[in-house]
Amino acid sequence: MVCKPIVAPRLVRVVIDRAIHRELDYSVPDSLAERVSVGSRVRVPFRDKSGLATVVATLEHSDAKGLRPIEAVVGDAPMLSTHLLELANWIGAYYCCPIETVMRSMLPQVIRKAKVGFKRQLFVQPGRKIDRDELEKLQKRAPRQAELLEAISKLEKPKRVADLLRQTSLDNQTLRALAKRGLAVLREEAVERDPHGDEQFIPTTNLVLNEEQTRVLKEITEALEAPEKARPILLHGVTGSGKTEIYLQAIRASLDRGHTAIVLVPEISLTPQTVERFKGRFAEAQDAVAVLHSHLSEGERHDEWHKIHSGRARIVIGARSAVFAPLKNLGLIVVDEEHETTYKQEEAPRYHARDVAVVRAKIEKCVVLLGSATPSLESYHNAMTGKYQLATLLQRVDEKQMPLMRIVDLRSERRKQKSLAILSDKLRDAIADRLGKREQTILFLNRRGFSTSLLCSNCGEARNCPNCSVALTFHRQVARLNCHLCGHTAAVPKKCPACGQDALIYSGFGTEKVEATVTQIFPNAMVRRMDADSMSRKEAYRETLRNFRAGKIDILVGTQMIAKGLHFPNVTLVGIINADLALHLPDFRAGERTFQLLTQVAGRAGRGETPGEVFVQTFTPFSPSIQFARHHDFAGYFQQELEFRERCDFPPFQHAVLITIRSEHEARAKFSAETLRRRLRETLPTEFVLGDAAPAPLQKLQGQFRFHILIRGGSRRISGLSRLIRETLDKLPFPEDVAVAVDVDPYQLL
Ligand code: ADP
Ligand code: ZN
Repeated sequence: MVCKPIVAPRLVRVVIDRAIHRELDYSVPDSLAERVSVGSRVRVPFRDKSGLATVVATLEHSDAKGLRPIEAVVGDAPMLSTHLLELANWIGAYYCCPIETVMRSMLPQVIRKAKVGFKRQLFVQPGRKIDRDELEKLQKRAPRQAELLEAISKLEKPKRVADLLRQTSLDNQTLRALAKRGLAVLREEAVERDPHGDEQFIPTTNLVLNEEQTRVLKEITEALEAPEKARPILLHGVTGSGKTEIYLQAIRASLDRGHTAIVLVPEISLTPQTVERFKGRFAEAQDAVAVLHSHLSEGERHDEWHKIHSGRARIVIGARSAVFAPLKNLGLIVVDEEHETTYKQEEAPRYHARDVAVVRAKIEKCVVLLGSATPSLESYHNAMTGKYQLATLLQRVDEKQMPLMRIVDLRSERRKQKSLAILSDKLRDAIADRLGKREQTILFLNRRGFSTSLLCSNCGEARNCPNCSVALTFHRQVARLNCHLCGHTAAVPKKCPACGQDALIYSGFGTEKVEATVTQIFPNAMVRRMDADSMSRKEAYRETLRNFRAGKIDILVGTQMIAKGLHFPNVTLVGIINADLALHLPDFRAGERTFQLLTQVAGRAGRGETPGEVFVQTFTPFSPSIQFARHHDFAGYFQQELEFRERCDFPPFQHAVLITIRSEHEARAKFSAETLRRRLRETLPTEFVLGDAAPAPLQKLQGQFRFHILIRGGSRRISGLSRLIRETLDKLPFPEDVAVAVDVDPYQLL
């Protein structure tokens, strides 16, 4: 056999970590050549400084003149695989954004900047043998050293110095003296910061699947057998139907084939409970499961990333950006709650992690499994048209009943109570009933704060945010007015600042007021609130969940933080305080979101022995999303929603691209938007429907005036449209204080 010599690259093409929108060529000095390949991170001279960059290609030759050499290689192995580079290119082309921006999402900052390293700690192990004479001398002259030596001689493997000294109650000086005599050997070693290192996970084994689950798992394992032929699998399973158990067993099947797996969950459902389920099932090796989420410290993130990159972790569970986890030999990507909008990143690159997962699976020839109780219209449509394979679970595990949904018409409640009631009589009675039976209640409202606006009844002025076109929310606990969009905060005026009258009225309510009202009505109940205000400490969240699970809390009030993924067997009542919040937004997905939210929140009820009950308070009891959710009729809802989307040329029938133009100066934003709109009309084929350059529904945000252009339609591939948009933008000289953002497949339409 002839061995091909490994040719070390002499020239490389790199993408610098800066927005310069092009690739650059460099030469590779001999001393570094062995360590450089595609995907390596390197330090290169750039203008008069140096910068970090990613190697995207090795070259035979370059047309560029006067190539400068790269200065250094960061890390031992390439940080991005060729697969991930291919994925980066796809994201750039599809989502209309420069590749260096994509890189920024692909590699965590702590890895990109290469400033944080492993934590190093001192370890001790036995040194040379000691003879009897010397030992006797030591015992006489330095009894503490002798004592420590005895402890060290019993060590089977190196031990952390700090631990040894703590256990023996001896000091560092004694240890140093022993080391000087050669009787102990000290060595620094890299140790990992394991965010879950101090927790014990109880090992679990596969549950015996029911008939439905068995059938679904079989479909998945068949796909794992022939991944190159497999289509993405959409698992539509009602809440509590045992989807997670299927993920666990599918991952096991993938590992058994020598492959690795990624599990994406929405950040919000990446709870200790979820992590525990995965860590517990794959407890065979401490390192097997790596966890990535936004609460990791820089050091922890660094170590988790390396655990994955080095191949020690074989399963990654994480939020959106975990779709870029540098696992090799990928066999399966699971996207749980695939309909969740938090998978969409709202800053560049504006990618959707579910769609990126589907593309990554195609590139790496692995299986992708999308799961949800309420699939997105996009995915369900893909399943209907055969692009995806549909698997369904219709039964809850153990044939538990779906909760009973009761609609409460707030219009008639209003007639009864005059003022806007927070709790209808029916909901109030139901809570009282549960309190009597020592069962638990969840009250859901997707709005924080106490009062949502402060109005003057004399002059009509509202307290609005000076930076955003929204009213300030009154937060009673901190006694301030806060803007939920930009964080602006203001003191609460005693009199109307506009007219000077003592005529301010508070109206609208959020979770804080729900909590106060419930506490007032049920003074003996233990009530807790869970939202971004009360849970700013990471520990508070865990603690509240723990107490709720332990039955120490009777009523939990919260925002979407409590809507997802949690299950508590003793919760038999869920109250949705206002189901209409999403319905009135100018967003074509408003109905879809309401349906999903009601179904998901309802899924929190009745997971134990007693069937659950859900009260939905609404002013629009006959809106389709509420009615279909009430009857747990996904198919019916899907059908009517799809008809609506088709009639209006909305996704999934047509792609949409939303361009936002913003500036501190309203006139400049408007002018730029109109100019851009004109140019786009000249450039884009007529099949694309171009909306007017119009003020965004949220006209002002964080001090910037915003204008929208919505592009729809076109049967062409989106990357073609993205390219045309990019070219048009590149040719237009926008004033410096005007920013333009392109959002392909937008979710945020405000
Ligand atoms: P989903 O993810 O669809 O909401 P889960 O996988 O969380 O459902 O399952 C709900 C509950 O049922 C969990 O407590 C889980 O351990 C249990 N479960 C799932 N599958 C089975 C099974 N085959 N036999 C017994 N219990 C099961
Ligand atoms: Zn604001």
